[in-house]
Amino acid sequence: MKVVVVGAGIAGLACAVELSAAGVSVRVHERDPVVGGRLSGVVAGGRYADVGAAYLVADDPDFAAVADRWRARGLARPWTDTLAVFRGRVPGEPAAGPMRWAAPGGLRSLAEDLAGGLDVVLESRLDAIPGDADAVVLAMPGPQALRLGPPAAVADAARAQAWEPVLTAVCTYPGRSWPGFHGAFVNDHPVLATVCDDGDRRGDLAPVLVAHSTAAFARSRLADPGAAAGELAAAVNDLLGLDERPEVRVHRWTCARPSSPGTPPFVTDGRVWLAGDAFGRPRVQTAWLSGRAVGRAIVQSTER
Ligand SMILES: Cc1cc2nc3c(=O)[nH]c(=O)nc-3n(C[C@H](O)[C@H](O)[C@H](O)COP(=O)(O)OP(=O)(O)OC[C@H]3O[C@@H](n4cnc5c(N)ncnc54)[C@H](O)[C@@H]3O)c2cc1C
Repeated sequence: MKVVVVGAGIAGLACAVELSAAGVSVRVHERDPVVGGRLSGVVAGGRYADVGAAYLVADDPDFAAVADRWRARGLARPWTDTLAVFRGRVPGEPAAGPMRWAAPGGLRSLAEDLAGGLDVVLESRLDAIPGDADAVVLAMPGPQALRLGPPAAVADAARAQAWEPVLTAVCTYPGRSWPGFHGAFVNDHPVLATVCDDGDRRGDLAPVLVAHSTAAFARSRLADPGAAAGELAAAVNDLLGLDERPEVRVHRWTCARPSSPGTPPFVTDGRVWLAGDAFGRPRVQTAWLSGRAVGRAIVQSTER
């Protein structure tokens, strides 16, 4: 049995870990030079900042066990269960919720941990379903999967997914001059959806705020995201009452989040499988569960 996983985001890596642990031969192809997909960071001002997922929630017992193992090794840490809330520019009551986990080394470090020991080929973009594999797992957003020409049921499921864009602004300030907060949900705002204190979540207290835009704002700036830097930084400063001008680095996500959750945990047609965070709430945990479920199903198919 030979399996090819396309995509080294958390879904593809979780799938490959499951297959590899069961002794199935698996190779992961990733188009980028690094693993992690939307568990992603950039170096801004000489320091790494998370620009994709802001944090993890681990309320599934199996994923919580993975998070606990990361914590035991110092790779992940519980960050906060309370985030500030703004309605427009007006502060509201903070929202208590599940524990959000962050990673001192950036969330990509968790993907790198999963990838350790796997056969991962980086900078390897596949443009078609490989013909020489017994099973092929497309672990990615539907619009990306469609480019490989998947069979009908997978293509239909991929086409049924609707995705929203996000612009991420990494704002590096001369110093930490904002009021003590971990991060904030920003509702009913023309530009911002969330703002997180990256120094707080990573634990080094660097003066870095990371803002995610609304989908509507991102859509209107997709052609030239860099040109939105000033507007994003001005919106952050206005929200938090800051005067100092940050250095800003903008990252564009064309497929950031699926806008409506699909039915977990995956879709398959013959030897081709589609996994990812579109199969449930758009979270890291959902992607992990989806990828693992595909891995388990393939292992079971070999045992029949
Ligand atoms: C701005 C933003 C904020 C978010 N905030 C949160 C949050 O706070 N909490 C949370 O839980 N989740 C959050 N998410 C969602 C979370 O990041 C995703 O749910 C999760 O990372 C998805 O993992 P995945 O493996 O399904 O997909 P991806 O991470 O997208 O992985 C797909 C991989 O496939 C690769 N690929 C695509 N096509 C090919 C090809 N043809 N050949 C080879 N490789 C290919 C891509 O390069 C990529 O590495 C956020 C996402 C974004 C973008």
